[in-house]
Amino acid sequence: MRFRSVLVSALLTLGACASAPKPEPVDVDVTVSPAADGSWTADYRFGKSAPAWAFARSAVTAADKTPWRAQAWTVETPGVSLKRIGRYDVLSADGAPLTGVRIRFKPFTEELEKDYRPTLQFSDGGQAHYTNQFEVVPLANAAAAESLPVDVDSEIIPTRSRLTFDAPGRRALYNGAVLDGRVVTGAGSGGYAYFGDAKAIETGSLAGIVDPGIPSWLRDELDDYLPKLLAQHTQRLGAPAAGRPMVFAAWGGAAQPGVSLNGGVLGGLMQMDLRGQRVLNPDKPVKNLARWFLGHETAHFWLAQTLRVETGADNWMMEGGADILAVRALGVLAPDYDPTRRLQGEVDDCLGLVGPNESLAGVLERGEPQAQYGCGAVLLLAAEAGLRKREPEADAYTFWRRLIDANRADGVVTADEWLEAFGQATGDAELTAETRRFVTEGVADPTAFVATLFARTGVAHSLGADGKIKLGAN
Ligand SMILES: [Zn+2]
Repeated sequence: MRFRSVLVSALLTLGACASAPKPEPVDVDVTVSPAADGSWTADYRFGKSAPAWAFARSAVTAADKTPWRAQAWTVETPGVSLKRIGRYDVLSADGAPLTGVRIRFKPFTEELEKDYRPTLQFSDGGQAHYTNQFEVVPLANAAAAESLPVDVDSEIIPTRSRLTFDAPGRRALYNGAVLDGRVVTGAGSGGYAYFGDAKAIETGSLAGIVDPGIPSWLRDELDDYLPKLLAQHTQRLGAPAAGRPMVFAAWGGAAQPGVSLNGGVLGGLMQMDLRGQRVLNPDKPVKNLARWFLGHETAHFWLAQTLRVETGADNWMMEGGADILAVRALGVLAPDYDPTRRLQGEVDDCLGLVGPNESLAGVLERGEPQAQYGCGAVLLLAAEAGLRKREPEADAYTFWRRLIDANRADGVVTADEWLEAFGQATGDAELTAETRRFVTEGVADPTAFVATLFARTGVAHSLGADGKIKLGAN
């Protein structure tokens, strides 16, 4: 075990100071505190008058696609309700402007559909809460939630917020700093605030909290494979914008069968929840899955953090990119890894979820986020194969390195820029125009489109008797 404990350097003291400046006025002031029974309270004070507030993060559960707050949050303020309206959880009081609302909640630790887990539960009792679960945006009335865009946040509806975790006597870790139970940030800050007793760990390539209960082989992967992976990504993509990553790895136990690896990357922090019976006795596929998962999540330090997209509709570049980079990293670090099944899954996901004349850009609005992974991966496979025709050493890393270098200054990559790079990689203007159509408006026959895409760029495949595309070795 090469992890060692460390004194996190930025030690911040937030003592009571008589001459402290008065806090700035904000539209929403939230204080989150632990209660004696394991529940927590969230006290909202509204500085801006509105009859309804929508929770910006209102995903449904991965398991049964139901809104999660209804299962874990209770409004204690009389006359105020928390209702599901459209795609959002909404606080309102029959049209009267809200001034203050108290909510009691049980930290929700289950997986959400394409959103960060609200709370990471560590097996020693520690918890890390996702700040943005508390983010709200004002509405003219509750019904206005029906017409909110799919990924609204306080940038789209300007809202100033302050989020204070107030847990006296508990040790907190936020943004690389150890704090004395009090964390002050914005509700839209996109971080996890950890409360618990686990020691922070540190290696040259990462710092973080790894659940003391995590199976030892998985701890070894975090110890051994993760640094190699970060080195590989860095060597091929350049330095990540966020600097040395932080990791929160929670072990959710072996109660459920199979294996569940779930996580995400936020502002230099990779958070993950690992669970399942098969994790206790890992075979090779489970080990490869863990390595692929780490490869995908760490790729987001570049694809999402060094370069970001302007809208959720463009996320196919990031998710498909992270999927393929994870495969290519395994190809280097575990040369006996066979990616065929994984890549076939991408093709099947893409063609199973994008129908005739349905655009890739529209899959999020249509409620098929998984298509962003599959189709993003399919398009990148083609770009990579096209590039390789002229540059035999090139791969998906090469493609993305060029996009990162060209866009590092503004930190944004658009679908136009990606398609332009695709045009350069393939040297095929007609195919690029058809690919643009697939992204922006949809094509009449997606399977025929992907078959053409693979044939023209040189992705090894065949057409099965069932008319489905079957990948060869890529
Ligand atoms: Zn991802």
